[in-house]
Amino acid sequence: MDISYILNEFAEERENYFNAVSPPIMQTSNFIFNTVDDMRKAFADEYSTYLYSRGKNPTVDILRKKLAALDGAEDCLVFNSGAAAIFVAVLANVKAGDHIVSVNKPYTWAQKMFDHILPRFGVTTTYIDGTRIENFERAILPNTTVIYLESPNSWDYALQDLKAVAELAKSENITTIIDNSYCTPLFQKPIEMGIDIAMQTATKYISGHSDTLGGVLSGSANMMERIFNSEFMTVGSGISPFNAWLLIRGLRTLPARLDRITASTKKVVAYLKQHPQVESLLFPLDDSFPQYELANQQMQGACGLLTFVIKADHIQQIEKFCEDLQHIFMAVSWGGHESLIIPKCSSIQPADFDAENKEHRMLRLYVGLEEPDYIIKDLNQAFEKLI
Ligand SMILES: *Cc1c(COP(=O)(O)O)cnc(C)c1O
Repeated sequence: MDISYILNEFAEERENYFNAVSPPIMQTSNFIFNTVDDMRKAFADEYSTYLYSRGKNPTVDILRKKLAALDGAEDCLVFNSGAAAIFVAVLANVKAGDHIVSVNKPYTWAQKMFDHILPRFGVTTTYIDGTRIENFERAILPNTTVIYLESPNSWDYALQDLKAVAELAKSENITTIIDNSYCTPLFQKPIEMGIDIAMQTATKYISGHSDTLGGVLSGSANMMERIFNSEFMTVGSGISPFNAWLLIRGLRTLPARLDRITASTKKVVAYLKQHPQVESLLFPLDDSFPQYELANQQMQGACGLLTFVIKADHIQQIEKFCEDLQHIFMAVSWGGHESLIIPKCSSIQPADFDAENKEHRMLRLYVGLEEPDYIIKDLNQAFEKLI
């Protein structure tokens, strides 16, 4: 299926709603039955019937079909946040006594789940450097049921060889889950590389406008139906019809936004690389990146997220640099229209700052949809005040 077809036409039944271009927001909690037998059938198979909007809803269904098609998956489930999607995917594939192998430094709230919630139920996690396949081989135990991936990571962009990990996991009967938020299905297709469940936060690129949260799981119809009938329905964190509608709207412009961001990011990377105040830069599709070859092999593009290490002797310099930015906002998240920055030193106490530690001098920049020169000019004026 062409991407343009998926985004503009697929799964939309316009003849059922006055040929409106934009689908209706089916803002209803429940659906009416005319016969007891119809109701009985719905109770028996909520996965395929409109009964109650915690389960299936027509607006959400349009979004599900489009997202599954983008991922090349049989089905997908959409949640009201990426964190909910991660939690449900993992919860659905572990039981007491099981073991998880996760890449180092996964998304903050995934790590919270591994470190603080799952151990209460007897599920343990081993973290590994996922850049080497041998580390997976070594960490797998007889009770390992899940391998948790994030490629690229959203701070240091560390990659995993997805085909190799999928092959290994299949041979050991282990379920693989990947956080594919950085690339989106437009730039990386984990399901096609053999990964079982592709997760992405829809808050970032799918929404694209910093106005809603959402999370996606894609996979086989079997896996999605099993998750729907248990964790999805009991956690009750499915996306609301209105937010689903916002995400459908976001999808229409996803390729155009990614094109723009790809071009702008190239310019910003080139600017930062030549700047004397920049010690180093991490961006998976820059030829200086340690896993550049693998990135080129398994990714069709990179997003506007990059990290640079600023030269500084004192934390105050980094703080001043961030506060001097006029147009690049200091805020969490990314994937929207607005450029954003987060200094790593915002998550450490000033007394613990160590200028020798590269990581403490990292800044994560998200390149948004503004004119690239507008972003570069803003960085430049803040650098000038730094010296
Ligand atoms: C934001 C983010 C998430 C979590 O998504 P939410 O929608 O905020 O819950 C997960 N993984 C990555 C890489 C993210 O950037």
